[in-house]
Amino acid sequence: MISTNELSIVLKQYFGYDTFRPLQEEIIQTVLSGTDTLTIMPTGGGKSICYQLPALILPGITIVISPLIALMKDQVDGLRANGIEAAYLNSSQDYDRQQEVRNAILQSQLKLIYIAPESLGLLQDVVDQVAISLVAIDEAHCISSWGHDFRPAYTQLGFLKKRLPQTTFIALTATADKTTRNDICEQLNIPQAKQFVASFDRPNLSIEVRPAQKRIQQLLQFVGTYSEESGIIYCLSRKNTEAIAERLSLQGFKAEAYHAGLSAEKRSEVQDAFINDDVRIICATVAFGMGIDKSNVRYIIHYNLPKNIEGYYQEIGRAGRDGLPSATLLFYSYADMIQLRQFAENSGNAEVQLAKLDRMLQYAEAVSCRRKILLSYFGEYLKEDCGNCDVCKNPPAPFDGTTLTQKALSTIARVQQKEAMGVIIDILRGAQNATIYAKQLQYIKTYGIGRDVSWQDWQQYLIQMINQGLIEIAFQDHSALRLTPLAKSVLFEGQRVRLTAPSTVKTFKKAQKKTEKTLQETTLFDKLRTLRLSLSREMEIPAYQIFSDATLKEMERSRPMTDEEMLAVSGVSQNKLENYGDLFIREIIKFHKSKRDTKDSRLGATYLTTWDLFQKGQTPEQIAKARGIHTTTVFSHLTKLAENGKKISLEEYITPEDLEKIRKAKSEIKDDQALRPYFDYFEEQMPYETIRLGLTILRLQNQ
Ligand code: ADP
Ligand code: ZN
Repeated sequence: MISTNELSIVLKQYFGYDTFRPLQEEIIQTVLSGTDTLTIMPTGGGKSICYQLPALILPGITIVISPLIALMKDQVDGLRANGIEAAYLNSSQDYDRQQEVRNAILQSQLKLIYIAPESLGLLQDVVDQVAISLVAIDEAHCISSWGHDFRPAYTQLGFLKKRLPQTTFIALTATADKTTRNDICEQLNIPQAKQFVASFDRPNLSIEVRPAQKRIQQLLQFVGTYSEESGIIYCLSRKNTEAIAERLSLQGFKAEAYHAGLSAEKRSEVQDAFINDDVRIICATVAFGMGIDKSNVRYIIHYNLPKNIEGYYQEIGRAGRDGLPSATLLFYSYADMIQLRQFAENSGNAEVQLAKLDRMLQYAEAVSCRRKILLSYFGEYLKEDCGNCDVCKNPPAPFDGTTLTQKALSTIARVQQKEAMGVIIDILRGAQNATIYAKQLQYIKTYGIGRDVSWQDWQQYLIQMINQGLIEIAFQDHSALRLTPLAKSVLFEGQRVRLTAPSTVKTFKKAQKKTEKTLQETTLFDKLRTLRLSLSREMEIPAYQIFSDATLKEMERSRPMTDEEMLAVSGVSQNKLENYGDLFIREIIKFHKSKRDTKDSRLGATYLTTWDLFQKGQTPEQIAKARGIHTTTVFSHLTKLAENGKKISLEEYITPEDLEKIRKAKSEIKDDQALRPYFDYFEEQMPYETIRLGLTILRLQNQ
């Protein structure tokens, strides 16, 4: 067995990371021990390293089966950027290129070869001539007809293990359910595979569901708070993707539509532009995203209700793969629900589809922690509420809604349970429109008794009543609302009903805050991002393959200025240090210097004179003498200079004992601004300048 330390060295050298994510190390050790495994990890969980790292250590070559040609190229480019020999084989290449790759394999020049299942034939003869250490099967759920993405080409993979009985296999997928899991192992002929199931929780994703009223305004406002970031907006129809992309473009956003109706060329053009940050927003049907490995997607919006929780969770999972906070927003509309319902009913297995849609609706209507609901769907149970979903942040306030409910139920009864939700609300609100007059509904006794509640709020309340089992929707009868037996007990037996106040549409506050920040100043992160973008254009590679956002954030925080410090940043591998280290270090130093210059200009001339003498090697006493000022004053200058980023080892001017005394005093006084309390604390036995010095040192240590 290889030691943790040795594995960590390889991880750092080739991938630039300091620590493994949960389960990665266990999986890698298992693979290295020659045991077949099945790895279940959510999108963005870090599956790739589970086979890429063993591939580097094992003597022979690793074959990676991947269904997505576009993704293959990205993965190989990413590996090469880290100095790892990898290539791919698929039908998009010409014969010569395929031969070149085959030769490279035969001459043992590669550690990893990516291949589409359809193209496995290209390796027929090769596998007998070279040592194959490992076979990795990505998106392994595609082999199972139980999964949601069955691909016929995957079925032939069952022969692979028979053909290569000595080779270790690792199957990977983000599809969780147990039936599919076991089926994958059966189909791949690795029934004994050790299974690893990582947590599906993605705590860095915030979760929010909003009613779909004024959806487009809400959307524009939301997107406005992320103007410099990448995001995906999922829509149900192609028409919608185009309309929204156009609307966003009119507002000055770089947005494009993406759907199956576009030519393959156009689609790959849009996809590339998104990966390279040239296009910020993609408005897509669900077809988009599967083949995309972009780690800095900052938000996902579902403009329409998704048809099941699996799909929804997978789609929101495309945000924040770099681990940075990212937002997800789902718009919930009654009209979408009706439409999805029809789709489901007309589908092959209506029963299952409808049940899944129901779970989706319950989720959208939830009044308890949404993350708990999502994870429980995947068989995982959170002990605490998450604190990062809209319900946790803004718990709904229930109130006694009995009277409101009675008004609605009684209206439904008075129209013989024949009208759909829209008409019921119109009656309650006393609307004066053609339908009302045509059907003479203005004579209904409850006409206008719910005027004080807005149309949208009524809709929310009615949906809550549906979810509480008081009303049913007769989908086969123009979606008319019907009363359930439970409704009768509310109408006639005084049964109380609790409703929750509908959430209000968010204000513009957040948007303003963000703009203020951008007006204020360019951050180091912005600078580094600009550098990355120009490099990526110059080299024609995706920006994230240079460094991820998370890595740039860490550079901003730790400000590495030497090769050694740069290498300590998570995401900086040996190869990347050599290729880009200098450029980024130079940018950081430049930024630091310009900051210092502005800070210096804020420091008065007297401080800078002291600093000048100090830099020439004069002691505080000598400075005091030369300038004709008190030593105490010189010390106050030095502490101020140190606080403004000048390198001065203040510790030299205080004894460790005094510093310790001040530390102790500080823990009791809990204030490090006013000096007087300390002076009193030490019963006037410690000079002011020593106290000031000590407190400054402690403050700087804490930064
Ligand atoms: P998956 O294939 O499971 O969707 P990836 O393998 O693409 O996920 O990894 C998602 C992101 O997490 C990538 O940007 C990857 O570089 C990063 N990552 C993986 N392992 C680690 C780690 N140990 N430390 C930091 N980042 C990691
Ligand atoms: Zn929550």
